[in-house]
Amino acid sequence: MRLGCCGTTGLVIGVLISATSARGQLTSSETDALSKLQSSANTAACSASDASSCAQAAAKLIPVILGDSPMIENLRKLTDEIGGRVTGTAAMAKAVQWGIAGFRAAGVDVHSEDYSLPVTWNEGATRLTIIAPASLTLSNATLRAVSEGWSPAIPHGGVDANVTDVGDGSEVELSRAGNLKGAILLVHSEIGSSWPDLFNEYMRPPGIIARATKDGAAAILWMGARERLLLYRHTNSLTGEIDRIPQAVVAREDGMRLARVVAANPGKVRVRLEMPNQVNGPTEQENVVGEIRGYEKPDEVVILGAHLDSWELGTGALDNGCNAALVIEAARAIKSMGTLPKRTIRFVLFSGEEQGTIGSLAYVKSHASELDKLRGVVIVDSGSGRFTGFSLGGRSDTEAGLRQILKPLDAWGATQHTADASFGTDNFDFLLQGIPTFVANQEISNYLANYHAASDTFDKVDQRELKLNTVIAALAAWGIADRTEPVGKRLTRAELDSLVRQTGLDEQMKLLGYWEQWQSGARGRKP
Ligand SMILES: [Zn+2]
Repeated sequence: MRLGCCGTTGLVIGVLISATSARGQLTSSETDALSKLQSSANTAACSASDASSCAQAAAKLIPVILGDSPMIENLRKLTDEIGGRVTGTAAMAKAVQWGIAGFRAAGVDVHSEDYSLPVTWNEGATRLTIIAPASLTLSNATLRAVSEGWSPAIPHGGVDANVTDVGDGSEVELSRAGNLKGAILLVHSEIGSSWPDLFNEYMRPPGIIARATKDGAAAILWMGARERLLLYRHTNSLTGEIDRIPQAVVAREDGMRLARVVAANPGKVRVRLEMPNQVNGPTEQENVVGEIRGYEKPDEVVILGAHLDSWELGTGALDNGCNAALVIEAARAIKSMGTLPKRTIRFVLFSGEEQGTIGSLAYVKSHASELDKLRGVVIVDSGSGRFTGFSLGGRSDTEAGLRQILKPLDAWGATQHTADASFGTDNFDFLLQGIPTFVANQEISNYLANYHAASDTFDKVDQRELKLNTVIAALAAWGIADRTEPVGKRLTRAELDSLVRQTGLDEQMKLLGYWEQWQSGARGRKP
């Protein structure tokens, strides 16, 4: 997932972007741009005070990544042959092997790191049927629906209940709906088309779930936010534990029809919701960690990461297979430069991201003693839309260094860095530890239209943009690792307290249930 992003605006299109051929080979104008980079290599450094050159690095990375590369075939195998990979499933275990094989083929050292996933979850045969009034049961009585991830199972036979339309689920609407006990609630949604829409898709449910649970509702039906019957799955449980109340997403058109018949037959529409989800566990899960050791300060580390897990209605191509492939390709390209960075670069494929960034939290916990020497974390998790810059996780002190590092690629337009901070991807627990984090800001492109949906497949990935994004991500990781001075310091708890307030991250954490852990020091830098 990636829940929020900066706004995006029109961008200057660099010569390399406009001229890249479909085959990913260098065109003549790319070669020109490359030779310009090579000739400026001695002047454009990764930082103000050292001779190390990010322009030189860019000039080496570009032909490797834009030339013949295994990245696209790697991605095709992950998505078409392994497919959707929910954390805790056999497909996820295969994806871990895919990641290990990918790093090995790139000539990069690799290992996996275990952690415990609280439960495993598989959808059963979800079925939503109108059972009353009788006049509605003659045809099209079965509505298209899928269980939300990590929803509790409804025991065999399902639950029969009246449907109560609670509109958008606001306090006012919920109060107007009257007694919710035993009812199945139908919550309306707007069609999502922007980053703020997606953010709201996650920020709205916690209050509704709390109220529904308190009032003893039987289940919640979320009207789909995507048109043309497109089904998608995510979870509102962000701890890896089973959610408090059964929930399903109903295909938008079916949900709207249900709302209309409820309005026309007040108090009389009953449905049967069958949702025999399989819940097991706990189980061991793995993050995959590739590594290129630094030659000067090997105990100082920079992470380039993306999550490898996905939902499984589609094959997790935009979210986030393409960026898992990007991380492996960046490792291959940096390895092939033939020059080691000053600091160690770790290339991490996280699991458990879709269940609440559980894998990256596990990494932070198991590497707690190294966090003082973790110099930066770069995360990519928004499909294959063009990079517009990086989200700096609520700080501005890291911006100057990042600009120096990416200067050789300024013409590519990834220069709109933003000082926002939000929950939503694997930088979260690093940010809360005071580590400089950099999450790629990307054009929304086709990300939201296919978000967590059956349609998130290999064919949706823009291969050209993915390669260009790979160059930028690789250069960012290289530059943070190779510049003389760290790109930013580790923030103290007091500085983080102020960052959390100033960015509104406090309100997000309260809504999503993380606030007490943050306050007590169970999550984030200890007070
Ligand atoms: Zn994602």
